[in-house]
Amino acid sequence: FDLKNDTDFTILQELGQGNGGSVMKVQHVPTGTVMAKKIVLIDAKPAERKKIVLELQIMHDCDSQYIVSSYGAYLAEPNICICMEFMDKGSFDGIYKRIGAIDIRVVGKVAVAVLEGLRYLYDVHRIIHRDIKPSNILCNSSGDIKLCDFGVSGELVNSIANTFVGTSIYMSPERIQGATYSVKSDIWSLGITLIELSVGQFPFSGSFSDSEDNDNDSDLEHERDSDMPPPPPPKDSSPFTPSHPHSNGNGGDATPNPRDSLQIPSSAARRRRRSKGVSLHGGGMMMSIIELMHQIVNEPSPRLPQGKFGREADEFVNACLEKEVERRGTPRELFDYAWISNSRENGMDMKAWAATF
Ligand code: ATP
Ligand code: MG
Repeated sequence: FDLKNDTDFTILQELGQGNGGSVMKVQHVPTGTVMAKKIVLIDAKPAERKKIVLELQIMHDCDSQYIVSSYGAYLAEPNICICMEFMDKGSFDGIYKRIGAIDIRVVGKVAVAVLEGLRYLYDVHRIIHRDIKPSNILCNSSGDIKLCDFGVSGELVNSIANTFVGTSIYMSPERIQGATYSVKSDIWSLGITLIELSVGQFPFSGSFSDSEDNDNDSDLEHERDSDMPPPPPPKDSSPFTPSHPHSNGNGGDATPNPRDSLQIPSSAARRRRRSKGVSLHGGGMMMSIIELMHQIVNEPSPRLPQGKFGREADEFVNACLEKEVERRGTPRELFDYAWISNSRENGMDMKAWAATF
């Protein structure tokens, strides 16, 4: 593929918008290939831009059934475009919002796919994902489940033009408190994701349950723009969501900075309101975020409704949502849980399931 020419693409549909940019369903006309094209507005010097493109080559080198494959990335000033395998059933946030709570056997398959994807990224490429959440877990009509938007390019994170780099609502307690990122933080995010999919609702919905929409948080955005410049992002973080407020950028131990913990991308907040997912309500948005962060750190971890999905699922999710990092499972340990081995062979026909919506 020679993807350098922007005019070679026909836009078919907008698939969604995130923090850093938007994702389009496109056709690469010279080859007829349908792809998902992520367009990220960046603010970087030419040398940095070249480095970003180089770093994104790692994505191209990924070869796993649990990772969305890449056709390549190129610069189209002032954007960077990343062309990926198109996953025609979309992401799991969209799926559960369309069809409701997801069958626990499918959620088991999601757990297997995420663990396998994390293992592949780490064992083969020494990459930590850093942004596990339903919108970064994709499905296609063959019933494949794959991860996207993992941390390949630190330089890209540094350059994303959106100033509102911030936090993710899937952040682990230790990340909120400023600890260095580890693969165990991804495990926490996996636990939250599994509850969200099987219950059909984000588990900390208490402070985020407003469904009304309004847009009067713009003042707050300006205020934050001048008051709270984002900290330098880490070198090795996710290229797509600069949601790593705790790193000091040198990969070493970050000093906890409570102010960092409170940053949330306003564009993401807007989008969540739009998508009727988590709603961050107008002037109460900042309070909701503080409240959520406070809950994650201070309240007991969320759980599956006990007994509803079976003891094995409960045990696995509880192991993911252990608040003490030392006690939380590593990916390797989590593979040994009964729910994982049983989910591999739970008889769920994923292709047939994916044909139901
Ligand atoms: P955030 O920016 O906070 O990480 P996000 O993951 O929703 O949020 P994007 O990564 O920009 O934002 O993705 C936007 C949407 O595009 C996703 O929710 C997903 O539904 C869709 N999408 C992304 N990649 C693909 C793909 N390869 N195939 C099909 N749909 C995709
Ligand atoms: Mg994404």
